[in-house]
Amino acid sequence: MVGKIQLVSTDFDGTLVCHASDPVFDRDCMRLIGDLQKEGTIWAINTGRSVALLEEGLEDFAFPFPPDFILTNERDVFRPTARGWEPYGDWNARCAQAHLELYDSAAAILAEVVDYVDQQTKARVIYDAETPSGLIASSEEEMDQLTRFIDRAREKTPKFHYQRNTVFLRFCHADYHKGSALAELARLTKTPTSAIFAAGDHHNDLSMLDGRYAAMPACPANAIAEVKEAVRSADGWVAEKEAGAGVHEALQHFLG
Ligand SMILES: [Mg+2]
Repeated sequence: MVGKIQLVSTDFDGTLVCHASDPVFDRDCMRLIGDLQKEGTIWAINTGRSVALLEEGLEDFAFPFPPDFILTNERDVFRPTARGWEPYGDWNARCAQAHLELYDSAAAILAEVVDYVDQQTKARVIYDAETPSGLIASSEEEMDQLTRFIDRAREKTPKFHYQRNTVFLRFCHADYHKGSALAELARLTKTPTSAIFAAGDHHNDLSMLDGRYAAMPACPANAIAEVKEAVRSADGWVAEKEAGAGVHEALQHFLG
């Protein structure tokens, strides 16, 4: 029990959503998040999905109510307006500028990675316009191999990093991830780290689960071993239940 939860940051796929169940979300979990929202707790979805893909997910899965904020592509922060989701403050613009500069300075390493992927693996490079933006591996094992290669290559350019989620990987600036996006939302909403709960299940969630940005980190039972380890090390809650039911269990734990 750390105290009142003022901000709840949940990953979407695999954490709030279990694609194998119907409905994909856990009713008790959503009821509790809704009750917390009514008492003033902020609920943010912190996801690797783009704004469009997240909106699609919320609609397709018939979520009972929308989140207060969405943190998308593992880096951007949006708030709701009458015109739809809009950037909250200047974080997204600063983030975009940092990525432009990164792509300039990391051109050599990016070319090295693309060559390796094309010549030595069955993985595929994803392009955003003409620029490589990420990778899709043919298996998790192949993704392990790819991240080992990138980890070696990025020693020369440490600001060049990536976010990994199952067989997907997105290239990014090392300073921009779910954790720093959450910190920016906390700064804008004046929420202390001690009052922040965060839950996630995969590699791309590690940055918000190590205790730095959320004093109440948690993961569902289906989380990967590295995530469970990080959550345990940060005195968080590793749930016995999966996905949304696990988030519900963790919220109840921290609410005492
Ligand atoms: Mg996930």
